Amino acid sequence: MSKVEDFLTAAEEQEVVEAIRLAEQNTSGEIRVHIEKTTSIAAFDRAMEVFHLLKMDNTKLQNGVLIYLAVDDHSFVICGDKGIDAVVPNDFWDCTRDAMQEQFKIGNFKQGLINGITRAGEKLQHYFPWEHGDTDELSNEISKG
Ligand code: CA
Ligand code: CA
Repeated sequence: MSKVEDFLTAAEEQEVVEAIRLAEQNTSGEIRVHIEKTTSIAAFDRAMEVFHLLKMDNTKLQNGVLIYLAVDDHSFVICGDKGIDAVVPNDFWDCTRDAMQEQFKIGNFKQGLINGITRAGEKLQHYFPWEHGDTDELSNEISKG
């Protein structure tokens, strides 16, 4: 088994997917998680690349959010689409990042992801409330590289 698959058990992975589903019940924003072993370029640049590869820049309101993790590099990035950047303050993701880091530091990756997803959903809700007729534009399943 590769390290990426060791990162979360199947049951933990389902808990993370469920956290995304719940977060998206309150916001039109779309949250995705991508996990890979390592990246040869800067984590932020790679996150942007993955964002595009997963077609996360195709949502109607441009409000997709990617939580990107490079397991072996001990790095993670939260990046949102243009529609979010246009309306939120610069420090918008700071508390989401901190909530994740706190758990990652003690090796609790599942909880870190869930806290990040939940926090991101709560924050997005203010700017992008759920609207009637909302569709699940991006899969809630974890993407693995
Ligand atoms: Ca949606
Ligand atoms: Ca979704």
